This record gives sequence, structure tokens and C-alpha cells, in this order.
Amino acid sequence: MDKRKVGVLGGGQLGRMLVESANRLNIQVNILDAPAAPAKQISSHDGHIEGSFKDAAAIRELAKSCDVVTVEIEHVDTQVLEEISGDVDVHPHWSTLRIIKDKYAQKDHLKSYGVAVAESIDLEGKEEEDFKKVGQEYGYPYMLKSKTEAYDGRGNFVVKSEDAIAEARKALAKRPLYAERWADFKMELAVMVVKTKDMTLAFPTVETIHEDNICKLVYAPARGVSKEIAARAQEMAKKAISTFQGKGVYGVEMFLLQDGTLLVNEIAPRPHNSGHYTIEACPISQYDAHLRAILDLPIPEEGLRLKEPAIMLNILGGKTPDSHVKAAQKALEVGNASIHLYGKGDARPGRKMGHITVTAPSMSTAEINIQPLIEMVDELAG
Ligand code: ATP
Ligand code: MG
Ligand code: MG
Repeated sequence: MDKRKVGVLGGGQLGRMLVESANRLNIQVNILDAPAAPAKQISSHDGHIEGSFKDAAAIRELAKSCDVVTVEIEHVDTQVLEEISGDVDVHPHWSTLRIIKDKYAQKDHLKSYGVAVAESIDLEGKEEEDFKKVGQEYGYPYMLKSKTEAYDGRGNFVVKSEDAIAEARKALAKRPLYAERWADFKMELAVMVVKTKDMTLAFPTVETIHEDNICKLVYAPARGVSKEIAARAQEMAKKAISTFQGKGVYGVEMFLLQDGTLLVNEIAPRPHNSGHYTIEACPISQYDAHLRAILDLPIPEEGLRLKEPAIMLNILGGKTPDSHVKAAQKALEVGNASIHLYGKGDARPGRKMGHITVTAPSMSTAEINIQPLIEMVDELAG
């Protein structure tokens, strides 16, 4: 299909699903990660690079072997990406990654372009008194967040009262912090946005349900959300992404407040958990779209539509090392369930080990089909 080679920083589950897409188009993807990384397990060629996606020398080596470099994670060294971008295409742009990898800078950036976000206050290097002042201004609870290296809520702390400040600071010690006003949301929505060389396109608006700060379920389309709100969420997501440079897919997480207001929670400059459903439910998946966008291949907008309703359930590590395998086995019994296991090796509680997508002609049928699997997953989580 295409002789150009794609390099990816990181070879976890997102890289693995990107490789699945690339394999179907016969496009070579060179992964920078440890030898048995999930993405490398399903891609046999000698173009992979061994090392950490945080290692500058390894990134330079990857760049030499590829025509386009992309990422499956935003916690990357953007100095090196800036340096290599003279010799190789880097998407998204290093400046985009630099802004987005710092959640506080990301919020500031979005605000400056008129994209609504939760109010925030910088607390980096600040004292106990300053944390108390936030409580006086925002009330309780407020959300304390690490600016960097955050995922699956590891980096968040809900500050419920002034008395909890000491514990919160201890829990997130040594991390650069900021505070966010609590968003009393009705539900959480997400939109995958595709940025091509000349267009910004959106997948449907979906509903995400988080448990303990980790995405658990994704409903596509979002349930009980009017066409008007769904369209507004897509417009907001496209507007947010149009402020960044660089091609590829971006995940936009949003809060839908009680009064119908939408706020952007955060942006992921890469394929995203809330977009896994597109593999089965849309003609073009988020991974297909990412590859096509960074390689300037056509993306007809109708390819981003929902063919039928879908529900995605994450399989997390549970009580025992094989909990996730048991969940996948149970899913084998459901006729319209597609199962993905990531090949991550050892499970630990809360680690994303796989996911299941159920598609059905109606959302209510999908809900009935997935119910036993949700119960199974809950039981295995303990
Ligand atoms: P990931 O990158 O894996 O999505 P993260 O660690 O970056 O997660 P956030 O997206 O910031 O974490 O927050 C995780 C969840 O915590 C959100 O999806 C939401 O449920 C809740 N949350 C975050 N910020 C707020 C807020 N200001 N008010 C209320 N709830 C919040
Ligand atoms: Mg995040
Ligand atoms: Mg998030």
C-alpha cells in the first residue's frame, strides 16, 4: 500500500492496535519499546528499536529508520522530538505534545483559544496555606492534579475538606500540582477528532463511565443525549483540536454539566480508550484514521460514522493474576462481543489488560448483552 515506514514511541496496547490497522494495509510500523512489548508481539520484522520511549538516543535511532514518527503516549521527551523533526515528519507536532503533556499548560492553552475548561489554579511549589486558599475560593471538594505523568487517575486526589490537604499533599508529594474546581457533571462525554493536512473531522459523541478515575465503559452513541448536545460536543472537540498543530487522532474528554454546559476535561494527542469502539462500530477505526491522517491518505467523512450502537467494557487486572483471562473467556460466549487482550503479561489490579466491544442493532440489546460481562468484571475486580 505504502512504502513509507511509521515509527511509534511506545508499544503498549494503543501501539498494538495501531499495528493491527497497519498490518491490514501492509504498512510497516517500527516500534520503540522493550522487546516483548504488546505491539511488537504481533509485528515480525527487523525494523523495531529496543529501548525506552524516554531514551533520547533510541528516539534518534527510530527516527533514522522511519518516514513519519508518532506516539502512543504523551509523556515523551519533546526536546528530542523537536530536534528530529528537522529530518523526519513528527505527528502530532512536538509543540502540541509539549503543551498537552502538562495538563495545566494544556488548560491555559485551551482557555486562551476560548475553549471552556474547569477553572484551575497553579500550586507548583506552593505551601499548605495556598492549598487552603483554593478551598476558600472553590469550596470542597476540589480536584488536586499532577500537571505531568498522569493517567488513569494516578496523579489526581479529591480534596474533600481542609483537613484532607495534608494527606493530599503527601499522596502527590514531589509532583508538580495544580487545583481544579470540582465539575458537578451529569455525565462524561468524549469525541475522537481526526486532524488531517487540511481538515478536522469528528467521530460520534460517546458517553464514558469512570470508576475510581479509570475509564470502565464507553457507550456509543452517548445515551439520553440530545442531537443538539451531541453535535455541540463534536463542534467543541473539533474547535479544541484545531488550536493544535500536527496530524493524527486526538481524544477529547468532556464534562456535560447539569445545565447543559460542556467543559473540556483533557485532551489525549493519540488514539484513546474512548475510541476503541470504533474498531468494530465504524467503517474506519481511530487507528485506521490515525495512520491515514499521518500518511496523508484519504479519510472519507462517512467512514467515521457509527454503523450500529456499541458498548466497550475495559478488562482490568483483578483479584488474581488471571482475572482478565477469565473475563475474556466469559465474553467468548457472547455472540456479538469482540474481545481484545493486549498481551501485557502480569496483571495488577486496575491495569488495563484488554477490552470487550459489544455491537447490536439497538443500544438496549447491546446493554442486555453486555450486562453479564459487566457483572463478571465487577466480581473479578473484587
Ligand atoms: P486519563 O488520562 O487516564 O483519562 P487522568 O489521570 O489524566 O486520566 P483525568 O482525566 O484528569 O485523569 O481525571 C480522571 C477522572 O476524574 C475524570 O474522567 C473524571 O471522572 C474525574 N475528574 C477529573 N477532573 C475533575 C473535576 N475537575 N471535577 C470532577 N471530576 C473530575
Ligand atoms: Mg489524562
Ligand atoms: Mg482523563
